[in-house]
Amino acid sequence: MLKWFDAQQRDLPWRRTKDPYAIWLSEIMLQQTRVAAAIPYFERFLARFPNFGTLAAAEEEEVLRLWAGLGYYYRARNMHKAAKCVSELGAFPSHYEAILELPGVGDYTAAAVASIAFDLPHAVVDGNVVRVISRLFAANGDRKQVAHLTGQLLDRKRPGDFNQAMMELGATVCLPQKPHCLLCPVGKMCQAQETGAQNEFPVRKIRAKNKEIERRLFWIERSGKVLAWQRPADARLMAGFWELPEKEHLPEVAPARELGAFRHGITVHNYRIKVWRAAAPVQFGNCQWLEIRKLDHLPLSTIFKKALNVISVFIGD
Ligand code: SF4
Repeated sequence: MLKWFDAQQRDLPWRRTKDPYAIWLSEIMLQQTRVAAAIPYFERFLARFPNFGTLAAAEEEEVLRLWAGLGYYYRARNMHKAAKCVSELGAFPSHYEAILELPGVGDYTAAAVASIAFDLPHAVVDGNVVRVISRLFAANGDRKQVAHLTGQLLDRKRPGDFNQAMMELGATVCLPQKPHCLLCPVGKMCQAQETGAQNEFPVRKIRAKNKEIERRLFWIERSGKVLAWQRPADARLMAGFWELPEKEHLPEVAPARELGAFRHGITVHNYRIKVWRAAAPVQFGNCQWLEIRKLDHLPLSTIFKKALNVISVFIGD
């Protein structure tokens, strides 16, 4: 695996460093984002915030703006909090347990940073590793079992490279569909390949059926301003982000005409969202007037941004 990794690994910006800050940043970004999509964000983020100190000193709004488009904004928020913790500590913790204490860091990230930045013998388990291990051992893909097997295989001298090799194999060779078994460095020991059962591992769980949900947003404009509400600072999802109001926020609103519609998916929910122009009601509830020309400088939810795209020709009408 290590020989194969040394020869075949992709040249990725976070592989050119042992800096725990850069490695931690890349691991957080890659949690929900593909490598190709993460690279420009990683480079931009690192250029603006090259170390924990600069990130800790930044305003949250700027951190969120640089993150905008990557989604799952709790990651950016937690990174900001973690940077403040590290600044207080004076240096990035160099033990697995201490890394695990940082906000937003779970088993996977702690093991990745500990092994890659500090050469500590902790095996990582992500979706790629689950797929490789479950095929190699014809195991169902249960995380505990995979963690146990991976821990036994881990190269104690180069744990960071071993972990990256496992993930690289899953990302480039042991693909979910049609794995390139002829190119696989561990093909000879793969039980799934031996019986031609690669696609049966890991065993799939039955997924819940997607739900279709209709929603209606209101575009309420006056003198270059639009009504919007802000998610509370302690909200579990997208805290601090601005949203366009719906009926629940403005019960007295009177819809005037439909401006456009779009689709938006969140986990198993498929939203069909319509944007309607409406007149300003007497009571605004939690909504506030935002200057339309300054919206670019605010953290807007993806739904808000999609709505702006759909109705842009009507703004200022
Ligand atoms: Fe995956 Fe094929 Fe390699 Fe087995 S032989 S680990 S199925 S790429």
